[in-house]
Amino acid sequence: MGQGKGMTLDYNSLLIALGFSGACLAATLLMSWLVARTELFLLTWAAGVVLIVFYVVLYAFYVDDPSPLLGAVCYIALLTGLSALLGAARQFRTGRSPLKPAMIGGCVLIALAVPPILMGYDGLGFMAENIAAAALLSATAYEYWRGRAEAPGPILGLSVLYGVVAFGFVLCAGVLIWDGKLVLGQAPQNWAEDVSLAVNIAGMTGIGALSLALNHWRAAGKHRNEARTDSLTGLLNRRAVFDLHSPVPMRQFSAVIAFDLDDFKSINDRFGHAAGDSVIRSFAEELSKAAGRADSAARLGGEEFVLVVSRTLPERAEQLAERIRANFAARQIDTDQGILACTVSAGIAFGTEAGASFESVLRLADKALYSAKSKGRNQVAMRHVRLVK
Ligand code: GH3
Ligand code: MG
Ligand code: MG
Repeated sequence: MGQGKGMTLDYNSLLIALGFSGACLAATLLMSWLVARTELFLLTWAAGVVLIVFYVVLYAFYVDDPSPLLGAVCYIALLTGLSALLGAARQFRTGRSPLKPAMIGGCVLIALAVPPILMGYDGLGFMAENIAAAALLSATAYEYWRGRAEAPGPILGLSVLYGVVAFGFVLCAGVLIWDGKLVLGQAPQNWAEDVSLAVNIAGMTGIGALSLALNHWRAAGKHRNEARTDSLTGLLNRRAVFDLHSPVPMRQFSAVIAFDLDDFKSINDRFGHAAGDSVIRSFAEELSKAAGRADSAARLGGEEFVLVVSRTLPERAEQLAERIRANFAARQIDTDQGILACTVSAGIAFGTEAGASFESVLRLADKALYSAKSKGRNQVAMRHVRLVK
């Protein structure tokens, strides 16, 4: 590939290598996006890489024929490409559109770097271009760094790689500034350019692999989450709450509150299943509003729910259940069949006996719930509590 001069590869062959690896990466990323169509940041990323490949190809021409106009187009391709990578990083972290920050950043930096080369000060232009590229890459490294909590391994890897590539551009800018030539008349040629190009080839490959890994990591997390979530209400589902609490004996001083909507069958019968679903969702809202950060609220199925309160006292648990009951009873539920009202009954069991299993405490809560139903519904019943001495 390319023409070797004796044993050494010339600069243009390395550029071709970089362009080729970039083009392959863009194609891989684009295909990953086409398969899943979920993570838009991959698409932004692929667009950025395409622009950078475009830059690399143009720059290979510029090395042979350094015209100011071609140089300016190179700057624009590189800086918009890097802006897109920054936008992709931001999109990955925040889920928001990458266009605005990337465009503002890119335009400002292009406005700084392009005029000098068009006016014949190509040396100055390359200083500005390298500084602008380093700034965009550093900002990208910082974006990933900020989002590192989601997947520390691949994200920190990305952050480091973007940082290293940025450093390559810093070196190039540094050498140009040190030489202090405002007019070069050719593409810059020095040791920093060679180092930076090698770093770019290695960095680009690593960044591509890690970006793909990150995409898979996030997709797997999403699937894990979906398997734990009740799709109608967004609460934990039955499996999730059992997985969470079954393996270990219940902690002392934790309460299990079982809820069951009252006469729900008649709501379904009178107003239809869709209205019934709205009622279920509105109860789920009350439940999540009342649940603390350490508590788990789940829909066990149908119109049955459970709230596991992690550290509390019997009277606190009772007040909490009572508040949920009263708030729900007072709620005017907006459905497509008009405004409905519904009530709920609750049963509480309190884990004072160390070593009791979640299932056994839930069974006690269910018994209490049954007594609330038999006493006339729309009320809270507490299972008799045996205090540990
Ligand atoms: P009680 O006060 O004794 O709890 O009376 P109930 O009518 O609520 O009791 P029951 O358990 O017999 O009725 C529950 C009904 O919930 C039966 C079923 O049609 C309905 N249901 C179960 N799952 C869903 C659901 O996902 N959506 C809707 N809309 N209804 C459901
Ligand atoms: Mg029921
Ligand atoms: Mg019911």
